[in-house]
Amino acid sequence: MAKKKKCKLKIHHIYSICLCILIIILLSTIHLYNAFPQSFVSTLLRPIFEPRPVVILDAGHGGYDSGSEYDGIVEKDVTLSLALEIGEVLENRGIPIAYTRNSDKVFWPSEESKDLQERVKIINSSRASYMISIHTNASEHKQGTGFEIWVNEQSEESVKLANSINDKLSTMPDIILRGIKNTTSLFVLKHTTMPSILIEAGFLESKHDQKYLLDTKKRKEFVKRIADGIEVMIQANDLS
Ligand SMILES: [Zn+2]
Repeated sequence: MAKKKKCKLKIHHIYSICLCILIIILLSTIHLYNAFPQSFVSTLLRPIFEPRPVVILDAGHGGYDSGSEYDGIVEKDVTLSLALEIGEVLENRGIPIAYTRNSDKVFWPSEESKDLQERVKIINSSRASYMISIHTNASEHKQGTGFEIWVNEQSEESVKLANSINDKLSTMPDIILRGIKNTTSLFVLKHTTMPSILIEAGFLESKHDQKYLLDTKKRKEFVKRIADGIEVMIQANDLS
């Protein structure tokens, strides 16, 4: 009898050890996933840990790369704020959102080509239905003004998304629309697997554009209309 009891105890210990090992593996995986979100393992695990987003927002530049600057206004800050605000409006409407970055801390190397490659990896691994890259414009002679969207016109859905956003902005007072422009060379549009557009939200040096880019009330209206344009596409394709 005593021998049998000893054997039971051993099995019990083996179960406990296995459980401890499983817990350690699980906690380590969660830690690695959070600490290295762009690693190969994290990319494989993303579908388990995160629901599939409908839209991924790419705030242009970030970290080492400030983008264009004018009079203390920095592109990477403006693009991040716009991405987070558009994302918040859509999330409040029940639309799952992902971001290539949600702060000024970036994980990719301080080199433009690797930076863009990493963004594309994040975008494609998100499996989102739409990608919107957000930038602000700059002109050599500091005389540019207005909002424009870049799109690969060969992608019908991308053009529809661009038109949908442009339509919503067309009735907004105090915004100059420069139109929808065709490109086949912009890296993030060329290499992403879902319908994608790149927004040039306005010119940092333009006093006119600064009103809706920086003024809280006008900017709220600007952000809402972009979100409206995205939502129209989501509803049309029954993705919500
Ligand atoms: Zn830019």
